[in-house]
Amino acid sequence: MNQVKSEKLIFLRPGFYHSIWGGTKLRTMFGYDEPGDDIGECWGISAHPKHDCEVISGPFAGKLLSELWREHRELFGDSSETVFPILTKIISAQSDLSIQVHPDDDYASDHETGTLGKTECWYILDAEPGSQLVAGHNAKSREELCEMIDGGRWDELIRRIDIAPGDFIQIEPGTVHAICGGVTLLETQENSDITYRIYDYDRLVDGKPRELHLQQAKDVITVPSRDVASMVIHDDPSEDVIKLISCKEYEVYRINCHDNLGVEFDRPFMLMSVVDGSGSIDERPVKKGDHFIVPSGYGLLSLTGEMKIIASCLPG
Ligand code: ZN
Repeated sequence: MNQVKSEKLIFLRPGFYHSIWGGTKLRTMFGYDEPGDDIGECWGISAHPKHDCEVISGPFAGKLLSELWREHRELFGDSSETVFPILTKIISAQSDLSIQVHPDDDYASDHETGTLGKTECWYILDAEPGSQLVAGHNAKSREELCEMIDGGRWDELIRRIDIAPGDFIQIEPGTVHAICGGVTLLETQENSDITYRIYDYDRLVDGKPRELHLQQAKDVITVPSRDVASMVIHDDPSEDVIKLISCKEYEVYRINCHDNLGVEFDRPFMLMSVVDGSGSIDERPVKKGDHFIVPSGYGLLSLTGEMKIIASCLPG
């Protein structure tokens, strides 16, 4: 009976991106069979045109997530969103990513054709001691912000924060941000790709610098920055289930299973990624690096084993 139940879980095949800032941890830490020493991103749950995940289990095996969304909306509680709304990635940085900012939905709809803005959040999975992230800036007025950008005063402008595994950071549109080398994290984001790059450490890609978008960045950066305390949550591992964030784009939860845990969410559908350990869900084996969707009406999930899961959904 249980085995039949777990066949309703929609397991997905991730897609990989290679970058100048990538490394090998997605293979060595997560066991993904992906060659190369510049692996940067694993798109675990995505119906984005850049990577549309294929279903690899159950009655819908072989379909793309965007097809399931179009043709079987009942699996998603008949959600009225036009496109599959959330994207889950694991990002592993060997060196620093470029410093960037995303517009909000209003700016994106006025200045970019037919796309959403982007809100994203990060759950830190692994970080070398002393790791930092860029989150926010130090300019007190828009005038000062523009002066610092025009003068290339990046060290003065950007705000670096100390982070450790288990930290969770919400990045609202308008927040200057960057993932720094030595950090591996799970990103939950709106299904959008609009990024304004501010500074790329003067690196060359294929012999030339990557395009910057300074004017758009000056328009959309929030001034002054939100304070760090309002952006960062430290996980409490003693709790089985923690809600990390609820905003208008998504909710994100962290689930820790020790031996046995029953969890049920009162939401039309859930995205889940196993980020540590292994075990089973309703007797189906799962392990670190697996990504799946719990469809509408699934009910109680019976977890066994030792594992950590990051789950997300549309806000209720
Ligand atoms: Zn971003």
